[in-house]
Amino acid sequence: MNIILFGPPGAGKGTQAKRLVAERGWLQLSTGDMLRAARAAGTALGKRVADIMDRGDLVSDEIVIALIEECLPDAQAAGGAIFDGFPRTVAQAEALDALLEQRGAPIARVVRLVVDQDELVERMNKRAREEGRADDTVEAFKIRLKNYNDQTAALIPYYQAQGKMADVDGGGSVEIVAARIAAVLD
Ligand code: AMP
Repeated sequence: MNIILFGPPGAGKGTQAKRLVAERGWLQLSTGDMLRAARAAGTALGKRVADIMDRGDLVSDEIVIALIEECLPDAQAAGGAIFDGFPRTVAQAEALDALLEQRGAPIARVVRLVVDQDELVERMNKRAREEGRADDTVEAFKIRLKNYNDQTAALIPYYQAQGKMADVDGGGSVEIVAARIAAVLD
């Protein structure tokens, strides 16, 4: 089964994706993790995206679509993918739909984690202390939230029109949110 974990930065997508991997054996496909790995490895791609990421802006659709396309055979072999932080634009969503259609394995559900903006800022500050991500600064986070509102929120009506969007309250403990997600998927 292919699902998308959707929501603003700091909503808990990565944390919940990792739980689903452990519980269901699906593959987590996080374009943010892939880009951070490219940077850590010092590849040409990593160098190209470093400043854009640190600012909190989106890298090009072309780059992230290519990263995802490469992983689809492994995801199919694992029995499903949890898309985390992808798609973030309508162009990415359309490309993903086309790629999955070719494989006969469309997106089954889009789980949208709903968290209020004050809590997002609080979580971002906590993650900055714990993980030291360069884009977890107040300035970069504001840009990431703006990009979410300007470009990514357009995916809500996109997936609602497909009848795939399920809203899940993203507030509370990791366990409580995981139970709410399981209720939507099962
Ligand atoms: P994330 O870990 O998902 O918050 O992603 C960290 C950063 O990587 C984002 O702020 C963007 O700069 C970049 N990024 C990750 N996924 C995408 C995507 N689907 N489209 C564009 N940029 C992305």
